[in-house]
Order: sequence, then structure tokens, then C-alpha cells
Amino acid sequence: MGRPDPQTRDAILAHLRRTYPTMCRRWFDDIVPVTLAGGTLSLLVREPVQLKYLQKRCQHQFTEAAQAVTGRLLAVRFVSEEELEQGRANGAGSGVVTPDVGFGGGAPEEEMLISPDYSFDNFIIGPGNRLAHAAAVAVAKKPGWAYNPLFIHGGVGLGKTHLLQAICQAASRSNPGLSIYYVSCNGFMTQFVSAVQAGKMSEFRQLFRNVDILLIDDVHDLSNRDRTQEEFFHTFNSLYQAGKQIVVSSDAAPKNIPALEERIISRFNCGLVADVQQPGFETRVTILKSKASLRQLKLPDDVAVYIAERIDTNIRDLEGAITKIQGLAAVNGSPIDLELAKLALGDRAGSDRAHLPTIPEIIEAVTVYYGVKPSDLLSKRRHKSIALPRQICMWLARKHTRHSLEEIGGYFGGRDHTTVMHAVKAVKAKRQDDGALDQDVCTLEQQVLAVAG
Ligand code: ADP
Ligand code: MG
Repeated sequence: MGRPDPQTRDAILAHLRRTYPTMCRRWFDDIVPVTLAGGTLSLLVREPVQLKYLQKRCQHQFTEAAQAVTGRLLAVRFVSEEELEQGRANGAGSGVVTPDVGFGGGAPEEEMLISPDYSFDNFIIGPGNRLAHAAAVAVAKKPGWAYNPLFIHGGVGLGKTHLLQAICQAASRSNPGLSIYYVSCNGFMTQFVSAVQAGKMSEFRQLFRNVDILLIDDVHDLSNRDRTQEEFFHTFNSLYQAGKQIVVSSDAAPKNIPALEERIISRFNCGLVADVQQPGFETRVTILKSKASLRQLKLPDDVAVYIAERIDTNIRDLEGAITKIQGLAAVNGSPIDLELAKLALGDRAGSDRAHLPTIPEIIEAVTVYYGVKPSDLLSKRRHKSIALPRQICMWLARKHTRHSLEEIGGYFGGRDHTTVMHAVKAVKAKRQDDGALDQDVCTLEQQVLAVAG
């Protein structure tokens, strides 16, 4: 059994940052390569939540990176400390591993994957979520004691799921013996329906009524589900009477969930009902900085302010903006600055135009098609191999976005509106003369429209 070269890990991480920039996180640095044996590279991950996340979400990407970096047909395996010890005890590094790091141990598939990002450490507190956050922390510290049930409600993308998962992570860290079950309401429903069909209701009840903390996400999905509501009601009572903690999230306050039984509404109201609201400007800036730091991104202050000013809908949209900017920075190989941020967000940030393509999407399609660099399109170069793709970009932008001639010129290296007018005319004329070019433009147009949905 060999020890992997320590530089291998760094090379793998560097490769991942290039190929999957938006997947990478700061905590990837804690992954330790331990053995290289029988064509398998074992990577030690000490945090159970991170381990499970990597196994479920990142296996393929790490394997690809390990192969690219070493030039060998390696398989990557993420292992816990325990598995590593067992492997050593068995005198081999390649035994079959059955990870069991789920909350509640060996839980079925419906139990949802916890994201290591969704911890209390990564949750930014502001006026709109202070109470919900404090209640969640209290519940994680003393399940069943502080607020029971804890009911968190609010609009999409405002941190409900984040808080539920943070409770799971904090509670299991401070008390690893706790049985914690985190599931979406639909997951609960699916399990219930299959248990009924399979005649396995006692197993179902055994599972749900013997946990220390039950967290059900998006409980508004109970609306109009009479039989599931009935079962939920009994699950709730049984846990509640046993002093077990229940936490639920919903897009509406209990009384505003349509067609929810009165007796369930009153159960929800007997604990703490806390809402999460849209973050204000300053909180948005802080959140953006925190998200960037998780991804090891340098986000200059003016860029954070620019995004926070433009996007005030919810935090998921803020994160989406960072992803777009990060993506464009990776494609262009350029640092993140205000100009790049403007280019990446284009008109997209104004949500009513979400169905229109953005200029970055157009640039992406055209540069891939012609095998040229985005930075060339934005440069002053006039060589034919660059000039034609640039003109096609301008033509597409003119036809499929609402940008003015000036704005489009501005995007492409500060050219003025007459250049754009000329480009639009030139593309029209060339298409009439040149059937192949006409076909290229049609294909690109379709691609761009497909990407924009
Ligand atoms: P919801 O469940 O309310 O629709 P999520 O919990 O999925 O929203 O949050 C959407 C995204 O916004 C997640 O990536 C989450 O980490 C992030 N987010 C929400 N609130 C906060 C916050 N207060 N601090 C940091 N990130 C947040
Ligand atoms: Mg959610």
C-alpha cells in the first residue's frame, strides 16, 4: 500500500477549481489523502456531513480530477476515520465500505442530504431572521426543551432550509448519540404512501416515532393531503408527548396554509412560530461576502455592493449572481471586478426579463462555436477570425436582448453605437450571400434561445 504524494491532493484541488469552480469550497482543503492502493486513492474526510456530501455529490468530479492529474485510471474513495482504522486493522486499503453516516443511522433514501454549507457558522444574522436564528440555535442546544415545535416560515430562498440543516449539524455535533431525522414533507408523504402500500406501517411508525429530533421541510405541502395530514398529526403527538423535538418549515404561517386541518394548525401554534424576511441592503452585502469566502473567491467591495443593490429578492438569487460571476470569470480567465460583474449579470438581474438571453450567454455560445476566447471579442482586435464572431454576437444581442446599441457597443470593448449598427447590417448582408454562415447563425440563435429557456 502506498502513500499518495501530498502534492497530488493540491493538484486535484487546483484541477477542480479550474473545471468545477462553483462546486469547490474552502473546506475541501481539510481533505487528506491517505492511501493509494490497488488503483484506489483514499481521501480522509473527518466531518461526517462533509463525507456524506462528497460521496453523494462530488465523487465523479474528484475521480475525473484524480485521473487527469495523475494520468492513471484511479478511483477515488472518500473515507471516514473509522473506515480508515478498520481498513488498517484488516491490513488492506481496499475493503468494501458501507458508509453509515446518516442522521438516525441507515435511513432510507428519502432522508435528505445535508449540505455542509448550511451551518450556523455560515448563517448571517440580520433583522429579518434574528428570532428564527436564535430559536434554531436554542433548539439545537436543548432539543425538546426550548421551543417545541419550532415553526419557521417565509418566502423562498430566505434561509428556512439552511436553518433546519444547521440544527441537524449543530445538534449532532454536540450530541452524536441523538437520532435526528431530516426530511422534506414530500419525502415524508412518499414514505407514508409506500409504507401503506407495502403493509409496513409499523416500520414507518417505528422510524418516525423514535427519533429525538424530527425536522420536516416545506410542510405547506401537507395542504390537501388528508391521509398524510392524519398520519402527520399522530406522528406529531407521539413525538411531542415523548418530549422529542419537532421543527418544521413552511412558505406560509400555519393559519395561511390552505386546507390544513385546524387541529394541526393549533399544534403548530403551541410552540414558537418565527418568520424569516427579506434581508436589507447591509445584510445582503454581508451575505455575499460570506458566500464568496466559502468559495474562496475574492469579491471586491464595489462588486458586492453592485450585486446587493441590484438583487433584493432573496438570498438564493444573490448566490445565483455569485455563481454567474464566478462562471464568467473562469471562462474569461479574468479576476472578478465591477466590469465583469456587470457583464455577467446583464439585464438578467431584473427578474421580469428572465426569459431573454444575456450577453454573457451569447458570448459563451458564440465563443464555444467558433473556438475563440471571450476576451478576444471584447478586445480591440480586428482580425477577421475575431471580427465575424464579434459581429454575430452584436447581431444576436440586438435581436434577442433589450440592450441599446450603445450598451451593446459598450460590452464589446467600448465600441460606439455605429459599430453595432454596422455589425447588424453586415451580418444580415453576409447571411444572404453565404448559406453556410446563415446556417451557423441559425444554429447559434437556437442555442442561445434554448439556454435562456
Ligand atoms: P428556503 O428554504 O427558505 O427557500 P434556503 O435555506 O434554501 O431557502 O436558502 C437559499 C440559499 O440562501 C441557501 O444557499 C442559503 O445558504 C442561503 N441563505 C439563506 N439565508 C441565509 C443567511 N441568513 N445567511 C447566509 N446564507 C443564507
Ligand atoms: Mg427550503
